[in-house]
Amino acid sequence: MHEVAEMRLANPASQHREGARARRLLEQYRLSILQMLGAKTDGMDSDRLLLTSGGTESNNLAIFGLARPGTRVLMSAIEHPSVTTAGQYLASGGYQQNRQQHTDSLVNSFSTSGVPNSNFDVRAIPVDHDGVIRLNRLEELLKEAPTSLVCLMAANNETGVIQPFEEACGLARQYGALIHCDAVQWVGKRPCEFQKWGLDSLSLSGHKFHGPVGIGGLVLRSGVSLQPMLFGGFQQDGLRPGTESVMLAAGIAEALSLSLAFEYGLLDGMRREMEQRLLALGPEISINGAAAARLPHTSNVALGNLDRQAFLLAADMKGLCLSAGSACASGSSEPSPVLEAMGASKQVLNSSIRISLGRDTTPEQMADATDRICKIYANLQK
Ligand code: PLP
Repeated sequence: MHEVAEMRLANPASQHREGARARRLLEQYRLSILQMLGAKTDGMDSDRLLLTSGGTESNNLAIFGLARPGTRVLMSAIEHPSVTTAGQYLASGGYQQNRQQHTDSLVNSFSTSGVPNSNFDVRAIPVDHDGVIRLNRLEELLKEAPTSLVCLMAANNETGVIQPFEEACGLARQYGALIHCDAVQWVGKRPCEFQKWGLDSLSLSGHKFHGPVGIGGLVLRSGVSLQPMLFGGFQQDGLRPGTESVMLAAGIAEALSLSLAFEYGLLDGMRREMEQRLLALGPEISINGAAAARLPHTSNVALGNLDRQAFLLAADMKGLCLSAGSACASGSSEPSPVLEAMGASKQVLNSSIRISLGRDTTPEQMADATDRICKIYANLQK
């Protein structure tokens, strides 16, 4: 990024030679990102990468841009708020007209029945106790009514639980729906096969794999028609206008390449060790989503009868940066909608914390953090 900044590039949308130089570089980064994500990059039917400000914008763009009025839109019950809230907005018929209704419903997200006066019949796809969507319910929902869009995340941000998105792609296609995948937690940690999986769109976010904050992307299958959310210039075919940052594009491309070269399996062993030590504290401790396949950098632990906010405060005092649910819900005392959708008990909802590992986390740090967590647990039990 520093190198690109030093080049003092012109606006890549400019017609002059300096603009063309910036544009060439930008397109190189775009191409390398698409290739790393398993998208099609040659021929007339190449997939596209729209650069955005991050995962939230990419998800909003996919939902508002792909959902068609008068149809059903399906979303898993455990999607990130940037998906569920956008779904709620669609269901409510628009923020302007339904400000109050929208605000009220944010808490509960969409439910199992459509909202009257909306052109979109937004429904939740339920999940099982481990947080994996029920594919049979997805098929029933698809069968019931014409569906324009299915949204299914690759892996959940609170539990790390991986979703059967390849199977979901097959079902969506069978019933003529497009499928969008929020792969913000997945990209950079696991190989991505956009074409092979059969997705229509996919979101990624730079800061989830040690790239810069403020850049993300939406990969869009060739031929899929997307309505823009922003209006302005002709950048990115007018689908996401605004001056593109070559420096941020360099950052996300380089971060993705470094991240894909890292052996994330190393984190798996560290997490397993930590979880085993925590489980040994007593039968009241459990790991949410433990029976499902999970990404290796996230652990969601229920701490028996302890209050999660009290635990997080005590942990913070001991230098541990832990969280309850997603960072977007931090500070909120509301129970996690993800754990609720998994049918968690009141005790599990009240006591669950999320522990995240990073690429730089060492076994020594993990052992030290686990010691501290065990000590805090013992102290709070007194
Ligand atoms: N989707 C998932 C699964 C996430 O974990 C996040 C961020 O935590 C987002 C979307 C939003 O991404 P961003 O923070 O880049 O807007």
